[in-house]
Amino acid sequence: LEPVYPMPKISYVNGRFINHRDAFVHIEDRGYQFADGVYEVIAIHNGLVLDEEQHMERLARSLASLRIDAPVSDASLKLIIQELLRRNKCQEGAIYLQITRGVAKRNHEFPKNVRPSLVMTLSKTPERHSMNNRTVGTAISLPDIRWERCDIKSISLLPNILAKQQAVEGKHTDAILVNDEGYVTEGSATNVYMVDSKGTILTHPANHSILGGITRDSVLKVARRNGLKVEERRFTLKELQNAREMFITSTTKGVMPIGMLDGKKIADGKTGPVTTQLQSLYDDYVEQKFNEAVA
Ligand code: PMP
Repeated sequence: LEPVYPMPKISYVNGRFINHRDAFVHIEDRGYQFADGVYEVIAIHNGLVLDEEQHMERLARSLASLRIDAPVSDASLKLIIQELLRRNKCQEGAIYLQITRGVAKRNHEFPKNVRPSLVMTLSKTPERHSMNNRTVGTAISLPDIRWERCDIKSISLLPNILAKQQAVEGKHTDAILVNDEGYVTEGSATNVYMVDSKGTILTHPANHSILGGITRDSVLKVARRNGLKVEERRFTLKELQNAREMFITSTTKGVMPIGMLDGKKIADGKTGPVTTQLQSLYDDYVEQKFNEAVA
């Protein structure tokens, strides 16, 4: 039976689980003042935290790169996530987790003896759905105007949000970022792939120029395991325009085909065979993780 009143959403702020509408941080938090922090978005499926270990590792790398101390241990972080799921009765959705350098008088240099802030929010989705978006998206290309440490999952996302806004204003799914040399780096919040004329999957190497997606790692792993050809090498916008297939990946989008770029179709504009295969391989991967967890 559905409850008569919807239960209030519960969020986590620095050691406390509280009603979402009362979940505040101080105006002197360095996340608010400087975007001095990092984040993770983690998918929840059937009550399972997907690829939790990989997200913890990436979070630790981001924190270390910015010399922010983890406010709690990984074990505590996992317990907080479990408690947040329990309090929200969440089976499907995504966790947003953010750590900033903490609250201090506004000075550019790092504050001393300040505890980093930790907040978590949960967005629930109504029912279990495929990890993959079966609709075909469209995209525009835009210059990649970001900094040289895109591998850090920093909350400083102005270039990404400006690009995404431009894409959405044109009714597109995503913006594809292209660097000064004409190479495609990634999407505004996704990794980008093409399939070349030999059927090889190409994607930008996971170096400082892109955010190494957790979905990217899993998709490349299952692709290789199933005999698909994968090359982590840069490709140009021109190569992408002439690709056999194009797709993007992220925690929230799964594997999503892109059928049109800058108003021109990629091949016939439909989901290609490699993308279709990857979608089902990735769905199987998620399903298997779930089965392992309940076994
Ligand atoms: N690149 C960027 C710039 C992103 O913001 C994201 C999503 N946060 C990704 C790639 C995809 O990463 P993931 O698969 O871990 O969601």
